[in-house]
Amino acid sequence: MSTLKAVRGTRDLLPPETALWNRIEATARAVFARYNFGEIRTPVFEDTALFARSVGEETDIVSKEMYTWEDRARAQSEKTQTLTLRPENTAGVVRAAIEHNLIESGQLQKLYYIGPQFRRERPQKGRYRQFSQIGAEVIGPPSAGSESPLRDAEVLEMLATLLDELGIKDWTLELNSVGSSADRERYNQALRAALVPVVSQMCADCQRRAVTNPLRVLDCKVPADQPIIEKLPVIADSLDQESEKHFAAVTAALDATGVPYTLNHRLVRGLDYYTRTTFEFTHGGLGAQNALLGGGRYDGLSEMLGGPKAPGIGFAIGEDRLVLTLLAQEVAPPQVADAFIAPLGEGLNAAALTLARELRRAGLWIELGDGSFRLKKSFDAAEKTARRIVILGEDELKSGILTVKTFATGIQTKVSRAELAGFLSN
Ligand code: AMP
Repeated sequence: MSTLKAVRGTRDLLPPETALWNRIEATARAVFARYNFGEIRTPVFEDTALFARSVGEETDIVSKEMYTWEDRARAQSEKTQTLTLRPENTAGVVRAAIEHNLIESGQLQKLYYIGPQFRRERPQKGRYRQFSQIGAEVIGPPSAGSESPLRDAEVLEMLATLLDELGIKDWTLELNSVGSSADRERYNQALRAALVPVVSQMCADCQRRAVTNPLRVLDCKVPADQPIIEKLPVIADSLDQESEKHFAAVTAALDATGVPYTLNHRLVRGLDYYTRTTFEFTHGGLGAQNALLGGGRYDGLSEMLGGPKAPGIGFAIGEDRLVLTLLAQEVAPPQVADAFIAPLGEGLNAAALTLARELRRAGLWIELGDGSFRLKKSFDAAEKTARRIVILGEDELKSGILTVKTFATGIQTKVSRAELAGFLSN
């Protein structure tokens, strides 16, 4: 019988690597808390219309990458619905903010999430069909300061702090402004006009994009198209005064913090809802999929979803790519227990479990052997999983004096049961 495997583009995460995932998530939670963000958890699937209206029908995500299905009604009171596994989480967060009247509270909402997202992409290193994003959104009514360029700078500064605290070295922040929707409309027209004479020399994807979504041409990675793309107009020339002023204030605040960045006028980001500030943090060690995270402002998104005016800014970090970057920088240390308890004979198993319980309750990481093991087998297993071995035989149980061997030094020590936890934690 053929064996079943994980579906293409999905992966099992195993120890010791999962310890790194946990460390990343714990660091992110701790940093977000210092900036006064709270966690939101939205459903993994949503009404398909949510993504069509926000991310945009013409984007690659919506036009070809979503996992969508017809969910048949099970009762007369239900309707057949078209549902989609979320390809990103911003739309869900904004939907939830509208649904729960968070905008009406008048306060700035600062929400973060950690969870799986799904896109039917061509799998490769750093690109999967199920992947995890760590993201955050700052959204609220204009009266709460949600449009302020200070919010953009604060979010960027927070991201720099998070990457630094995670130990990600040599990241690059690229920054741009895509302006208001009116600016983008002007720019789209300029791009369309500039593409007319050259588009026939470009790749098939660009020929399609030139018609449906000219901004996406700038995302093209085909080498032969790059000289043509270089000569296309830049969005900076289509920004109105308000957008220019906003962007200048973002960069001035960022300059004051000392967070380094470069301007990249080609950075438009693929999703329809972005306005004004857009950004990406990249890392050279990642290869072709070099974006660690992306984000930007989405001042009209709430209204696109039928909500009140609620400007906002957010980002999504590719957690899989953080892991890849950290693994390339450092070898994930295998998980090593403080001690391995080796009962000498099956009659001592229950006593060994009791000793393990005592030590674990004292906060130690304990691996429990088995009395059916010969001593040599216990030592072999212990050396692979723990820093020390604790031998528990009849004599040790009666006298309360245990034999402990420390593998790093080879030293064997007698330790009383009362002092064992203290000894093992050193
Ligand atoms: P996006 O939601 O497309 O702006 O992506 C934000 C970040 O999520 C990217 O910078 C990547 O780090 C990560 N990401 C996006 N798509 C994938 C994928 N298919 N596999 C792994 N990470 C991804």
